[in-house]
Amino acid sequence: MEPVPRIVAVLATAAVLTAGCRTTGPGGGAGPTISAPPAFSQSDTPLHPTPASAGDPYTPGDGNGGYHVEHYGLNLRITPGDNVRELDATAELTSVATGDLTSFDLDLTGLTVASVQVNGAPAAYTRQGQELTVTPATPLAKGVRFSTSVAYHGTPQAIHEPTLGTYGWIRTRDGIFTADQPSGAQTWFPCNDHPSDKASYDFTVTVPSGLQVVANGEPVTGLGGGVHSASPMARNSTITSHWRETEPMATYLATVDVGHFQIKTGRTPGGIPIIVAVDPTVAGVGLDDLYARTAEITDAWVKLFGPYPFDSTGAIYDNALVNFALETQTRPVFGDYPLDPTILAHELAHEWFGDSVSVTKWQDIWLNEGFATYFEWTWGERLGGKSVQQQYDERYGLVGDPRWQIEPGNPGKDKMFDGFAVYDRAAMTLQALRTRVGDSKFFAIVRAWAAERRGGNGTTPEFVATAERISGMQLGPLFQAWLYGTTRPTNW
Ligand SMILES: [Zn+2]
Repeated sequence: MEPVPRIVAVLATAAVLTAGCRTTGPGGGAGPTISAPPAFSQSDTPLHPTPASAGDPYTPGDGNGGYHVEHYGLNLRITPGDNVRELDATAELTSVATGDLTSFDLDLTGLTVASVQVNGAPAAYTRQGQELTVTPATPLAKGVRFSTSVAYHGTPQAIHEPTLGTYGWIRTRDGIFTADQPSGAQTWFPCNDHPSDKASYDFTVTVPSGLQVVANGEPVTGLGGGVHSASPMARNSTITSHWRETEPMATYLATVDVGHFQIKTGRTPGGIPIIVAVDPTVAGVGLDDLYARTAEITDAWVKLFGPYPFDSTGAIYDNALVNFALETQTRPVFGDYPLDPTILAHELAHEWFGDSVSVTKWQDIWLNEGFATYFEWTWGERLGGKSVQQQYDERYGLVGDPRWQIEPGNPGKDKMFDGFAVYDRAAMTLQALRTRVGDSKFFAIVRAWAAERRGGNGTTPEFVATAERISGMQLGPLFQAWLYGTTRPTNW
């Protein structure tokens, strides 16, 4: 995720994210540490799931214990602008029980549930808050694979949070835009809504004829294809298209976008299939320019990070009044603002760091944003802008800035997208690491992190262990000071 430049915040109606703030705070306060920081001491506190929660204190009700979802088959009929029934849907989940279950929970916020089936048999269900509790006719034994089918409908509501802004299911002038970090997925499909549980997806999406759908992965029905319910000219005719993401994906990275798009497809010079889509009403984004830059950056990141982790790359620019971009898997989404290649580079770096290698718990969000910001700076340097070291030095010069008190490795829920701590200081942590271990070891660590956890999850202590193994150095004090110190760290 990345806040967009200030000018966009002026245009957008959504609340301005605090992340994006690059200004210096009031003077005074903490100075640099002068004594040696303590050794790295953060234990890898595991999540303690309950039936109603993954156990993540940053998103208390999100996720559920007792099962793992392998696949979401989402059949979505979307009628943009319908205030009562904008979404009419069936979700088909394939899951595996991780314990003996007499009942289990899904996350679903708002909407009306019409029926629930487990393994084809009607199941009882209750709803309380975001919990949809399902009681199958027959209990499920540990290890068994089972299907859950939920029929539901209604008009999803965007989420408005003071610290996070507006996100989730967002109406545009001609359709729908979805960007769900951290808790928006449950507003449009029942799910195990936490990045610790990743799954593959099929999206079968029916919209009024004349509208298009762009989603994650690749179009099974072909681009511009799809199945018409009747002649496209007929009243109430619809078109159904099918997109598939085969690689494991966190719920918040799922996206379905509906509207009018110019679409360009092909392969990057390095051979990766690419699909970019631009709403033609978005000013300052040329389809050919977006295509070329997405291809160039994707190929450059392959050289730096290792193999591209998914089957296609791309980007979606839609006429959504949001002031952020989000790294939705294979196809980051951007709102109604001009193309900024460094933000594009940020979101595409997330395909490795955040999407392929996902956080296990939100506390470790710096593993996503620190990496993406670091390589956003790297791309800026390649374009002739400030060097990464200059970016570091500018911020390191903010002596006494109170934002040094926020721990990047434990920022708290309200600061989980803090622009200074979780983005900039986390990127500075990586620059401090690079300075300490040298270029070749640094990029070996980056590549190992991407390769060894491809398609999975990671934690901060696991990253520190990887860095120490590859470098052969004791790096605990460095990470302790940079990620968990509440004062400006020693300049490593
Ligand atoms: Zn980001």
